[in-house]
Amino acid sequence: MPIPHRKFDALIIGAGGAGLNASLRLASADLRVAVVSKVFPTRSHTVAAQGGVNAALANVLPDDWHWHMFDTVKGSDYLGDQDAIEYMCREAIPTVYELEHAGVPFSRLDTGKIYQRAFGGQSQNFGGDQAVRTCAAADRTGHAILHTLYQQNIRARTHFFDEYLAIDLIRDEEGCILGALVLAIETGELLVIEAKATLLATGGYGQVFRTTTNAFINTGDGMAMALRVGVPLQDMEFFQFHPTGVAGKGMLITEGARGEGGFLVNGDGERFMERYAPRALDLASRDVVARSMVTEIREGRGCGPQKDHVMLKLDHLGADVVHQRLPGISDICRVFLGIDPAKEAIPVFPTAHYAMGGIPTDRNARVVAPAKNGPEDVVEGLYAAGECACVSVHGANRLGGNSLLDILVFGRAAGTDILRYIEENPNHRDMSDSYLEPAMSRLQRWERTGEGTTVHEIKAELRKLMEDHCGVFRDKETMTIGVEKLKDLRSRVDDVRLKDHSKLFNTARIEALELDNLVDVGMSTLLSALYREESRGAHSRVDFPTRDDESWMKHSLYILEDDRMDFKPVRTKPLTVETFPPKARVY
Ligand SMILES: Cc1cc2nc3c(=O)[nH]c(=O)nc-3n(C[C@H](O)[C@H](O)[C@H](O)COP(=O)(O)OP(=O)(O)OC[C@H]3O[C@@H](n4cnc5c(N)ncnc54)[C@H](O)[C@@H]3O)c2cc1C
Repeated sequence: MPIPHRKFDALIIGAGGAGLNASLRLASADLRVAVVSKVFPTRSHTVAAQGGVNAALANVLPDDWHWHMFDTVKGSDYLGDQDAIEYMCREAIPTVYELEHAGVPFSRLDTGKIYQRAFGGQSQNFGGDQAVRTCAAADRTGHAILHTLYQQNIRARTHFFDEYLAIDLIRDEEGCILGALVLAIETGELLVIEAKATLLATGGYGQVFRTTTNAFINTGDGMAMALRVGVPLQDMEFFQFHPTGVAGKGMLITEGARGEGGFLVNGDGERFMERYAPRALDLASRDVVARSMVTEIREGRGCGPQKDHVMLKLDHLGADVVHQRLPGISDICRVFLGIDPAKEAIPVFPTAHYAMGGIPTDRNARVVAPAKNGPEDVVEGLYAAGECACVSVHGANRLGGNSLLDILVFGRAAGTDILRYIEENPNHRDMSDSYLEPAMSRLQRWERTGEGTTVHEIKAELRKLMEDHCGVFRDKETMTIGVEKLKDLRSRVDDVRLKDHSKLFNTARIEALELDNLVDVGMSTLLSALYREESRGAHSRVDFPTRDDESWMKHSLYILEDDRMDFKPVRTKPLTVETFPPKARVY
């Protein structure tokens, strides 16, 4: 049976904050926009964002977007591209006001202005006293933002394909992207969505690690789709471990808990961050806090019978602050730990949280890849924004509150550039059945049940492998063994066993497709980490403990074909201000 085709001006794959801010821009300009999401839009991971979004509004203490820019460059360990960082920090202020006007119910100060809290790595005056820059709706900021964007999209008549899984992008002979092949999860029916421009906004891939704050849906599908059309992935060695995941479980306790005055203690009851970051203490950058915690535990000063975690204390803040400013955290502690954080400390351990790397883009969210006849070229018709993209504003380490900002600013930038692109390219390109073949053959790999290990078992093996061989601290030997194990695991994915045939349902095949994606992004992470022989931001090599600007001030690129690596320069020149040159990073 022939596969039905639908035509839209723009196709957005992913309905998190990045996708919905792009689609809103396009639908408001009366374009025909399709948004495809494998879950109902308001279940996208953006809904789980707790602490808030950064903008130098200066509602609590003096602030300035130049200071925000400095903090972001320093936080990135000087690997972020400074033109994109300048753009993001400047745009932060109108972006938050735009959200306020769209109806986001921010918490309020007594003055009536938007509530802001302190977050890690924020400073006044280029490295001075702590700044207060994170705009929050209690500890449910992502929920407030995502629901508002969804409602505004409904009003703007965005066309939603809820619970549709994108299998692969469709590419013509010239390398232009023409849309995607998608699958209706409920019925198993296939559909080709043709579009003049396609945006990948599929979020992160935290599911590649065993203990993670990420949802089950965060399997790196968009990143793997980009790899399969020949786009490399950039800076994949930089994966953020959030200091305060609930120990052994992974649920996130927002950095806002420390922003409200909470602090960490070790098994001796000592506030150990005084030794690692004498000035910023518990609000040092996330990579610094996570490493300090693991060091305390490795040196035998952990808490509990196994001495395998540390404690986050909020019990000195008073029940009012804890329950009003951190209601979601109070719920998590009650449900998963059976404690009230206003009375008892919370056991915490660093947990896989956020992908700094992803699909390389320019400031307008256009996907760029190494070109045949130049160092870099735009992939015609393809855009990427949000956690799946690497602009790069986070470099080697992201600051808390900068990801919600990234998805909103660059989601909107994608929308704006797609408008321009469609004006210049008003017609759909010709489609041919032969362009569908790569996507169809991928799907056919799992039309039979397979004889090997189950999807579930292989996935568990992969997640443990990544945690054991590519965690907070890394070295050559451990990672080399990891790469060999991952190659073996990859060879078993084709023959992975789906559920019993009589009960075979789409979800079994979908899990196999997601696993396949996870294996490729896992390989990109491990190989990029093995190649980078220095320690920078979230990437800590025990065998190369210092930052090496001379050899490694460059972005890494992983290419799927033959598991190759390539590199490209960092854009150190901002748009209008002076470059922030690399310095030693102390907090
Ligand atoms: C628990 C938690 C708390 C956080 N708190 C904060 C915070 O306070 N501040 C901050 O700045 N950042 C925070 N972050 C990070 C931030 O929330 C995320 O980086 C950001 O929301 C990602 O948004 P996104 O739009 O890129 O993707 P997501 O919101 O993850 O959306 C991805 C979308 O892609 C769709 N999709 C994926 N694959 C497919 C496919 N194959 N086919 C169809 N659809 C697909 C999904 O259905 C979904 O709609 C937090 C993250 C977590 C996990």
